[in-house]
Amino acid sequence: RPFLQAVSSFPMEGSNATPQANGQAESSDGFFGEVNQMFDEAAARTDHPRGVLHQIRACDNIIRFEFPIERDDGSIQVIRGYRGEHSHHMQPTKGGIRYAPSVNVDEVMALSALMSYKCAIVDVPFGGAKGGVCIDARNYSTTELERITRRYTFELERKDFIGPGTDVPAPDYGTGPQEMAWIMDTYNQIGDEDLNALACVTGKPVGQGGVRGRTEATGRGVYYGIREACAYPKDMKRLGLEMGLEGKSVVIQGLGNVGYHAARFLEDGGAKIVGIAEIEGAIHDPDGLDVDDVVAHREETGSILGFADAENIETSAAALELPCDILIPAALEGVITTENAPDIQASIIAEAANGPVTSEADEILQEKNAMIIPDVYLNAGGVTVSYFEWLRNLSHVRHGRMSRRFEERNAERILRAVDELTAEDFSEDLLESLIEQVGFGAGERDLVHSGLEDTMSHAYDEIRAIREKKGVDMRTAAFVSAIDKIAGSYDQMGIFP
Ligand code: GLU
Repeated sequence: RPFLQAVSSFPMEGSNATPQANGQAESSDGFFGEVNQMFDEAAARTDHPRGVLHQIRACDNIIRFEFPIERDDGSIQVIRGYRGEHSHHMQPTKGGIRYAPSVNVDEVMALSALMSYKCAIVDVPFGGAKGGVCIDARNYSTTELERITRRYTFELERKDFIGPGTDVPAPDYGTGPQEMAWIMDTYNQIGDEDLNALACVTGKPVGQGGVRGRTEATGRGVYYGIREACAYPKDMKRLGLEMGLEGKSVVIQGLGNVGYHAARFLEDGGAKIVGIAEIEGAIHDPDGLDVDDVVAHREETGSILGFADAENIETSAAALELPCDILIPAALEGVITTENAPDIQASIIAEAANGPVTSEADEILQEKNAMIIPDVYLNAGGVTVSYFEWLRNLSHVRHGRMSRRFEERNAERILRAVDELTAEDFSEDLLESLIEQVGFGAGERDLVHSGLEDTMSHAYDEIRAIREKKGVDMRTAAFVSAIDKIAGSYDQMGIFP
């Protein structure tokens, strides 16, 4: 069968001879190599022309730059930044900005590639990008972080790596709404007059063009994705688990924006958080941990350790091996490797972080019959809601203001109605429905939530259908879904010139 022959030889010899970045060869090693291995696995199960597959896989543009900032004590420090734009099959390109000391060119290329596939999987019309600054944000004051962020944005702008129709950053590890507001303001100050300037970055504070629900969007999406996975009897039976989330034990690594919200939604959905890991170590309580209480304890003592009756576990890594139904790595890449994969006890590994499982560890987990819900699908909630924010900014519609007015009027109407009621009219049901109707900001938030829920379940169905049809694991199916969609774009657009 000639078709199988052609595809099974992907990648062809010399296929790594893609552009050099900052003197470092783009090779099959490292994190980008890992992503490409996963890509190749899936590509071999498609029948797209080999050249198109290579174009999809290659990282289009990558910049590395260094700039000085003045520290609060008057000293000068040189800071290194990156931005990678992986694929321009759709524009703008889109992806977060990470502040971490470990940021490097390989990581930026890998993460930008994951963004391309992620956007395709959830049908968000962006190419993939990612940026990073090599700093440990905890070692800098707010004013220093502001100077770093503004100078980083300036460098992106003058290199044409930012703009509403060019490349649109968002939060990632170590950044949040505050950094996005600085980016937006800097772009506004230095860019050409641009009516759409608000759309140059997403994940902004609500008062600065952000949408309600963006902050918790990735965690909420993780929850929807896990809920979908637990809803299929055949899959649950294979894993020896009951259907649904109720009572499922969960261990989560990383209590940042993604991990915290995912844990909260899972808790509300009936799951039991039995282990939490952070930089300082981990805690374990088979009876369940209250996530908000753990956060309050951490704020008070500076550590999650020593929480109530929970057992302390010395390292964050050791917590990954705790007994549980669902393990959620929600911090950084490469935490499940050939070293610890054999000792992982969870039946479901839910990749809230980008790239937490190496490709060799993935094989070990598959052999152990575990189900891996892949990052490119599971953490796509963030960029999905970023898309809503970007659209909102471009449409110049002030959703927030409009819905607030609507709610104020609604509240007045309800108060008038309440005025007319007598004591006998009151019931708990009535009270509850009244409270629900005045819920502040509910209009926009509901829109965001239902859009996100719909996106996550639709993408899950697509991936599951490919998985069944091709008899592959979920990651390979997710990559096939992404490759099919991106190749479809090239097929329709053709290749320039
Ligand atoms: N940094 C997030 C991610 O890895 C969000 C990207 C975005 O919203 O553009 O998916």
